[in-house]
Amino acid sequence: MNTISENLEPSLHKRKLKKIAVFTSGGDAPGMNAAIRAVTRAALANKLKVVGIRRGYQGMIEGDFIPLKSSDVSGILQLGGTILKTARSEEFRTPEGRFKAYQQLKNAQIDAVVVIGGDGSFTGAQVMSKEYEISFVGIPGTIDNDMYGTDYTIGYETALNTVVEAVDKIRETARSHGRIFFVEVMGREAGLLALTSGIACGAEVILIPESTVQTEELNSFLRKGYKSKESSGIVIVAEGDQSGGAMCIAEEARKAHPDLDVRVSVLGHIQRGGSPAAKDRVNATRMGVAAVDALLDDQHSVMIGIANEKIVLVPFNKAVKLNHVIDTNLIEIHRLLNR
Ligand code: ATP
Repeated sequence: MNTISENLEPSLHKRKLKKIAVFTSGGDAPGMNAAIRAVTRAALANKLKVVGIRRGYQGMIEGDFIPLKSSDVSGILQLGGTILKTARSEEFRTPEGRFKAYQQLKNAQIDAVVVIGGDGSFTGAQVMSKEYEISFVGIPGTIDNDMYGTDYTIGYETALNTVVEAVDKIRETARSHGRIFFVEVMGREAGLLALTSGIACGAEVILIPESTVQTEELNSFLRKGYKSKESSGIVIVAEGDQSGGAMCIAEEARKAHPDLDVRVSVLGHIQRGGSPAAKDRVNATRMGVAAVDALLDDQHSVMIGIANEKIVLVPFNKAVKLNHVIDTNLIEIHRLLNR
């Protein structure tokens, strides 16, 4: 773990911050609201003014700002999505777009910004803070749990539970009909959600982008099923797996084993929704408070992480450039139990 600080204690005022902004960017994730609430209330407790930026960087460019009081973030802890809305902004990728964004922040007298999002959002913050004097601190919000330097990202826990609940249901119908279901789980470049949900559901095969070995396991599982003629089972496929999505892999399986009853279920955006799990609420709250502490402590261009249950600060350039390495032990455990 490459971090620059561990175990942040409650803030000491080292810097004369007056007004901060908070916004959500990139894909939404359950627990973002808990982070917005924590940032707002921690800032207010430290006598800072708080502004919410709506619709990510696009809202920053357009000056879509709303002042946040404590009551504005009341009753949102248990809500999925983000009350500030989120967006992707092509305009912010241009110097002209970032200049407009800077002007809006300056006009609103905003000194520092908390960005809740994924590595793209942190890259945007890093680019802008190199061009203009604006401090950014990031909170990782993505169901993929694929950020370097943190064991945890907001939304992962809830999404994991959503996948497990859905696959348990699919398993019942798969058993009843003797069908093999290929279930596609989100994760474009990251297979952790697929891997952990597969283990939690007892999936017979798990296909993730980080490992190619499981393709052989899939073939062996299908061969066995073909011989027994009444096989059922669950194959979890991360959407970014090299062999293609669940549709594509299932089609190949059908061609190779025409007697098998193969079905596909793409879980899709259901994985992003829902009331956040307790762990997402607690960790998002811890991270929100830590983000304000970090700004008061004159930190900038760092992501708040949680490693070994402790708050850590990870420089943006590491968080966005380095890869989160998947725990190969989990792959081994799955293999051992599915020989
Ligand atoms: P997710 O993990 O859900 O995809 P993300 O934060 O990685 O979340 P992106 O769409 O990659 O989502 O990035 C969000 C926004 O950040 C982009 O729409 C863009 O406005 C800004 N951004 C990303 N990369 C850059 C960059 N290199 N320069 C400037 N802005 C950027």
